[in-house]
Amino acid sequence: MTNCIFCSIVKGERQADIVASKEECVAFKDIQPKAPFHILVVPRKHVASVAEMEDGDAPLIGQLIRCAKVIAEESGIDKTGYKLVFNVGRGGGQIIDHIHLHLLGGWNNNEPPANI
Ligand code: AMP
Ligand code: ZN
Repeated sequence: MTNCIFCSIVKGERQADIVASKEECVAFKDIQPKAPFHILVVPRKHVASVAEMEDGDAPLIGQLIRCAKVIAEESGIDKTGYKLVFNVGRGGGQIIDHIHLHLLGGWNNNEPPANI
C-alpha cells in the first residue's frame, strides 16, 4: 500500500516511538495522545479498517488484542485497567486508513473521560 503512514512506520521508513515489534504487529506511541498512556497497535499487513476486513483477516484482530494485553502488562497499566478502541470509518473517528487498536489508560483516579 503506497502513501500509508502506518505501513511506513511498520517498514521502518518513518520514525515512530516503537514500544513493541512482533511477528504480526507493531506498537508505537500515539503522536497526539488522548490519554496519559496511549499506544497504537497495528498489523504488519495493510488492512484499511475493520469495515474492509476480508474473511482471512479475522485472526489479525486477536493478535492485535494479544499484543495490547502484553504491552499493558509490561507497562503495569493492567493493574488499574485500560481501554481498547477501534475507530471505523470517518463517522467513527478513523483518520488513518490502516487498522489500529488504541490502547488507552493512566487517567487520574482511574476515571476515563466519558467522551473517549
Ligand atoms: P484514528 O482516529 O482512530 O484513525 O487514530 C489515528 C491516530 O493516529 C490518532 O490518534 C493520531 O494522533 C495518530 N497518529 C497519526 N499520525 C501518527 C504518527 N506518525 N505516529 C503516531 N501516531 C500517529
Ligand atoms: Zn498501511
